[in-house]
Parts: sequence; C-alpha cells; structure tokens
Amino acid sequence: MNTLSVLNLKHAIFAFFVLVTLASCTKPEAEKVMLQGKTMGTTYHVSYVAQPGMPDQQQVQAQIEQVLKEVNQVASTYIKDSELSLFNLSHSTAPREASDMLRFLFGEGIRLAQMTNGYLDITVGPLVNLWGFGPTHRPEKVPDNVAIALARTQTGVQYLQLEGSTVRKTKPELYVDLSTIAKGYGVDLVAQVLEQLGIHNFLAEIGGEIRIKGTSLEGKDWTVGLEKPVAEGRVLQRLLRPKDNAVATSGDYRIFFEENNQRYSHLIDPKTGKPITHMMLSSTVIYPSCMTADGLSTAFMVMGVEKALALANQQQIAALFIVKNQEGEFEELYSQAFEAYL
Ligand code: ADP
Ligand code: MG
Repeated sequence: MNTLSVLNLKHAIFAFFVLVTLASCTKPEAEKVMLQGKTMGTTYHVSYVAQPGMPDQQQVQAQIEQVLKEVNQVASTYIKDSELSLFNLSHSTAPREASDMLRFLFGEGIRLAQMTNGYLDITVGPLVNLWGFGPTHRPEKVPDNVAIALARTQTGVQYLQLEGSTVRKTKPELYVDLSTIAKGYGVDLVAQVLEQLGIHNFLAEIGGEIRIKGTSLEGKDWTVGLEKPVAEGRVLQRLLRPKDNAVATSGDYRIFFEENNQRYSHLIDPKTGKPITHMMLSSTVIYPSCMTADGLSTAFMVMGVEKALALANQQQIAALFIVKNQEGEFEELYSQAFEAYL
C-alpha cells in the first residue's frame, strides 16, 4: 500500500455521516440517492435529494467521474504524465503554458502560503520526499542535516510564478505537491457539477473532506460525525452541523513512522525542514470552499495549537483542534467562529 492509500484509508474512515431519519416533511416523489466510487487513491461519496425531472443517477455519476478524472490528470503527483508531474519533472526555468485548473491551484497554494505565514507550502515536496512520505519512498529513516539543508534551498512559493497563461519555476529543482488542497478542490468541483444539474440538497465527500448544501431528504440539517483521534476503531467525538459549508480535517495519528521511539509525522514544518513534533491530534475547519478548508486544516496542524488558534480567531475562521492534555485526555479547543456549528 503506498503512502497515499494509507493516508486516504485514514481519511475514508475519519468522517462518517449521521443522517437524521425523521420522515416528516418528505415530499412524496423525492428520494435519496447515494453514489460512491474511487478517486485520488481514496473513495468518494455523494448523497443527494433527487426530485422528479432531475437527470438520472447514472448521468449524475458520469459527470462527477468525468470532473474527478480531469483533476487527477492535472494535479496528481501519482500519475506520471499529469500536467503537474510534467511540470515537476522539467528542470526548465522558462515560462510554460498551463491549464486554467493548474494555474488556479497554484494561485490558491500561493495565497494559502501567504495567509498561513508560510506554514502551508505547496513546494515542500523535496522535503516530503526526503522524509519518505512522497510518491517516491516509504518512510523508514531519518535524513541527515546536509540533505535537509539542501532540500530546503529547493523549497519556497517565491520560486513559483504565474504569468498570464503560463507558470514558471525559478529553481530547476522546484517540486509542487498539491495533496493538501486537491481533495478539497475535487469536492468543490463535485458540488459545482451537482448545482449545475439543479441538485441543491447534497453532501459530497472525498477521503473525509466534505461539502454540504441544503438539507437531507427529511428536510433536516446534514450532520457530520467527527471521530476521536485514536489510531484504532471509530469513536465519535462530537456531531457537527456545518450548514452550507465545507468541513475538512487534518489528523496525524494514523500516518507516521517511528525510529528510536520518536514518531515522525507526514507533515513538514517548512521553517525547520523537519516533521512537526508538537501534539495537536486533529484540526477541523469549516469554511465555504472545501479547497481552502482542506489547506487550512493542514496548515493549522503544522503551526501547532497556539499559533493556529490565534490565526483562526484573527481571521474569523471556524476551526476546532483536538489536543492531548497533561493527564493524557483529549481536549477540544476552538475558535470563536466555530461555536456556531456545535
Ligand atoms: P492531512 O490529513 O494530514 O491534512 P493531507 O493529505 O491533507 O493530510 O496533507 C498531507 C500531505 O501534504 C503530506 O503527505 C505532504 O505530501 C504534504 N505536506 C506536508 N507538509 C506540508 C506543508 N507544510 N505544506 C503543504 N503540504 C505539506
Ligand atoms: Mg489536509
């Protein structure tokens, strides 16, 4: 199993849906449709309320699969001839024509780096690969300081430029990794497909990143279960009612490698070039865009609970963090904006 599938196994079981089953105000012809499939090395699920006159579910699913295929062919680092892989492979520092989608994702990556004071860095790839969490290795061994220092000279969004219809790397070795926003972006595109088909009551999910609109078949708010951050089993931490928003969670407790009793996370602090060591167990963000929620949830994990809370409150972002306190118990900390969803 490659790192991505380990990662996504975690995500797939991280969030599950609690669908309220009160059949009071159901319209007679409306029915609930559930679609599922595979994408980005993980699974997707879509539930929606179908009304008479809507396209049939095979048609809906075909359009969803089509749009997901497009994202993968642009942004996957696991597909060797994706647009992103070809960009990464090339050592040319000349501007290069790029699709609207790739430019949009790069732009969002650069914006998120600014918004998170550099803690989310889509160019962290050489470090991720060095520590063995990328597509090229399995995690097993701690790299030496010389290798870390060298990889650090190859990272930084300042070396990634957008100019008109082109993208450009100003360091030949620059390697872009969109895994922190790709699933969320995929969810946003699925939501867009559904809306275009006239479907306005849905829950769409890829690998644990979720977007919600409207209500369930019973006319109730969609409810999302947040799991306790434990490595085994599935225990409910609490229920959330995100309303018309996305919910993304970053959690570290199922992906890591160990050496000399030290656990190494798959998240890299771009400021040290090393995996994070502080003890935030999971970070959940509720935000209109799933792509942004996805990126922010990871960025908060990387920066640690104090900086994360300060930033979330300052920017009015709804975020909930689970940490282990000194007694070894789980403790929840959340920003002011999160209170609306509890
Ligand atoms: P999580 O559930 O922990 O948020 P994601 O799949 O969203 O997991 O992101 C983890 C991946 O992001 C890593 O495997 C790595 O490829 C990449 N990554 C690690 N550290 C950073 C960072 N500081 N900024 C951006 N991407 C990172
Ligand atoms: Mg994430």
